[in-house]
Amino acid sequence: MYERFWQQAGDKSTIVIPGWQSMSYFSDAGSLCWFLEPDFAQEIIRLHKIVGNAVTEDRHIVVGTGSTQLYQAVLYALSPQDAVEPLSVVSAAPYYSSYPLITDCLKSGLYKWAGDARSFNKEGPFIELVTSPNNPDGYARQSVVNKSGGILVHDLAYYWPQYTPIISAANHDIMLFTVSKSTGHAGMRIGWALVKDEEVAKKMVKFVELNTIGVSKDSQLRAAKVLQVVISSCQYPTSLGSLFDFSAHLMEERWSLLRAAVRQSGLFTLPEFSPGSCSFLNRSFAPQPAFAWLKCQLMEDCEGFLRSNNILTRSGKHFGVSPQYVRISMLDRDENFYLFVERLSTIHLRHSIQV
Ligand code: PMP
Repeated sequence: MYERFWQQAGDKSTIVIPGWQSMSYFSDAGSLCWFLEPDFAQEIIRLHKIVGNAVTEDRHIVVGTGSTQLYQAVLYALSPQDAVEPLSVVSAAPYYSSYPLITDCLKSGLYKWAGDARSFNKEGPFIELVTSPNNPDGYARQSVVNKSGGILVHDLAYYWPQYTPIISAANHDIMLFTVSKSTGHAGMRIGWALVKDEEVAKKMVKFVELNTIGVSKDSQLRAAKVLQVVISSCQYPTSLGSLFDFSAHLMEERWSLLRAAVRQSGLFTLPEFSPGSCSFLNRSFAPQPAFAWLKCQLMEDCEGFLRSNNILTRSGKHFGVSPQYVRISMLDRDENFYLFVERLSTIHLRHSIQV
């Protein structure tokens, strides 16, 4: 979905890295996050300031190979090394399907996936992941566990104005961001954490050091350039507007096509959202999430039903809820998105012929 914007940006977003450059492991040997490229750190701060979606003052920035690596770094950093049993990790269902898989893939003695935060009632400390806007359903979220002893981790991958109104600057202890969902550069594998507590930040840095001895400098330099172009698109918009104007407009258009297709089919429902006032885009609008969280009214197995109609989705069961739900990406290329809504809108016709 973002390709058209970057094609239009052309050479403004090109960087050249000669063979002799960026050869060392180190980026800034004296600083807490010694593998963080200073140019990239500077663009992160500038971007958050201009968008107004997160507080960067009194925060340490930790860069990661995607926010996926930072998620693991956070689990490592927050788990006591000498605990008798693993720390519970929870998130309210429907939750991002990778959380349980990543948390338990190494069967760590430090932490363990403990499922839906709403039904969590175990004694002792725990980590609650708060994903806002949420993947898969797009709702803005706050913590739900109603007891003390929890450490909150805010995954703010989608807290950008193309997906949801920016109501205020997020000001949490641990916040995760990624270029995958902000600029569209998922393949660059770059994410960043804004971390208040110095000890937590140091342990996250230690994890990345043990795991990959830092983060690709080439990717960080490219990410710095990409963020620089995004910032200048906000300051000096071209005919497409800023990256956020461009992508917010596309998302609005796509959601209106999707809702029309769902109405026409009569077989599904979608989440409903209330509008909010966005301080960055200076207008009020309802969330237009990166995923459609579709509920089948008649079928138990929505994924199977849609597959038989040539639409590939991810079943609700991976997100901790019923298979009556599925998640569908709203960020594909135009041609695939149009094909998807076309197929969805005519399902009832094929369905009525089959039954
Ligand atoms: N958190 C959430 C909520 C996500 O949806 C995703 C991407 N699907 C990630 C983290 C991972 O992002 P990255 O590509 O930076 O590893």
